[in-house]
Order: sequence, then structure tokens, then C-alpha cells
Amino acid sequence: DIMVDEHHNPFEEKKEFKKKKKRGGGFQSYNLSNFLFRAVMAMGYKLPTPIQRKTIPTVLEGQNIVAMARTGSGKTGAFLIPMIEKLKCHSQIVGARCVILSPTREIAMQTASFFKSFSKFTDLRYALLVGGNEMETQFEKLAQNPDVIIATPGRLMHHINEVGLSLNMVEIAIYDEADRIFEMGFAEQIVTINNKMPKNKQILLFSATIPPSLANFTLSGIGDYKMIKLHQEY
Ligand code: ADP
Ligand code: MG
Repeated sequence: DIMVDEHHNPFEEKKEFKKKKKRGGGFQSYNLSNFLFRAVMAMGYKLPTPIQRKTIPTVLEGQNIVAMARTGSGKTGAFLIPMIEKLKCHSQIVGARCVILSPTREIAMQTASFFKSFSKFTDLRYALLVGGNEMETQFEKLAQNPDVIIATPGRLMHHINEVGLSLNMVEIAIYDEADRIFEMGFAEQIVTINNKMPKNKQILLFSATIPPSLANFTLSGIGDYKMIKLHQEY
């Protein structure tokens, strides 16, 4: 005889499991495009970190954010994942749609490497503009109409001043490790760069701390934003 257990329906069970995962807030709850979801899974990210859980939906909604979280909390994914979701694919229209500013060449290079991994199933292009790299190589990259510019403030200013690089198509500006950018004396450059981009761009600022000089910038340079603060242990 075949025993039929009326209460055991594998189809229903699977549905229930999926719902639970969704409630638990896995990456699949953000409805990311398949190309991006696959890249996130390929990175081995099973669950979003607390800062990613707070920022990804907010950035996808289009809000400006000032996010504070400690080093190692996953801030790179917190801005790259929603940014790549928004840009989706290469645009033929001339001009970068996103600028990411980093305090140092090393951090910019690390961000570029993360960008490569997260965008590997897309045709998005990026240019890395940092000191110590050949200007020629950077001109060549810029000539290919990158969607994203990853830069240090000094080198980006150089491209703006010397060759008239335009930032007037920028839709998303990301300031990573903003406290360090300010500590390193780039405050003036940041204000200048911020003003070279359209007023209605979305701004994402990430920092471990908010010193007074940075607080002034968030007040005068960002407009309305959502403050996201995580406790030290996260
Ligand atoms: P932060 O910029 O806050 O210092 P990073 O973005 O550099 O942190 O992330 C620190 C490390 O944690 C990196 O190795 C990164 O790949 C890893 N990481 C980030 N988010 C996740 C996640 N959701 N799941 C697993 N590992 C993650
Ligand atoms: Mg970081």
C-alpha cells in the first residue's frame, strides 16, 4: 500500500521555505536583476551584512544616505550592489553616471576589484583614476566612455582641470571612507567635485566616524539624506 501523508506536501514546503528566507532578508528579497544576484552569489555572500541590509533597499528607493559603520562591515557591497542594479548596463550616452571617491589609491584599487566582480555579468565599464598610474592609460580608459569612475580626489581634479573631464551626467556620487578623505586634507576638492556634478544626483556617503568638518559637508552638500548608524560591534 502507498501511504499518503496529507500534511506533507513538498511543493508547499518549498514555498514556505522561500517565504521564510524572504522574511529573513536574504539577498533575494531585494529583487535584484539576475545578472547581479548571480554575481553576489558567486562572491560567496549568502546573507547581507547589517549595513547592507539597511542601505541596499534605501539606495534602491533613490534616497541620499550618510552611513556610519566600522571597517570590515561590508560597506563596499552596500554601495556597489544597489549602484550596479541602478546602472544595469553600459550606456552609449557620453559621460560617467557614477563617481566613487576614495581617500587612497589602495582603497580605490580595491573598490575597482570589487566592482569588477559584482559587474562581471554586465557590460558596465569603469575607469580607475588614481595617482601613480600612467595618465595615458587613464585617458584611454576615459575615451571608452566608462559608466563608473573610481578615483582619488587629487587625480580626479587633475583630469577635470587639465583635460576638462565633465561630470555633468553623474547620477550617483559615492564618497567612501569620507572621514579619511577629510583627514587627508581633501575637503576643498570634495566640495569642488560635488559642485561639478548635477544638483539632483543621489549621494551615498560612507564613513566610520563623522568629524565636525564632515558634518558641515553633509549639511551643506547633501540636502535631504537618511542617516544610517550601526553600533560599534557591527
Ligand atoms: P568595509 O568597507 O566596511 O571595511 P568591505 O566592504 O571591505 O568592508 O568588506 C569586508 C570583507 O567582508 C570583504 O572581504 C568582503 O568581501 C566581505 N563581505 C562583505 N559583505 C559580505 C557578505 N554579505 N557576506 C560575506 N562576506 C561579505
Ligand atoms: Mg571600505
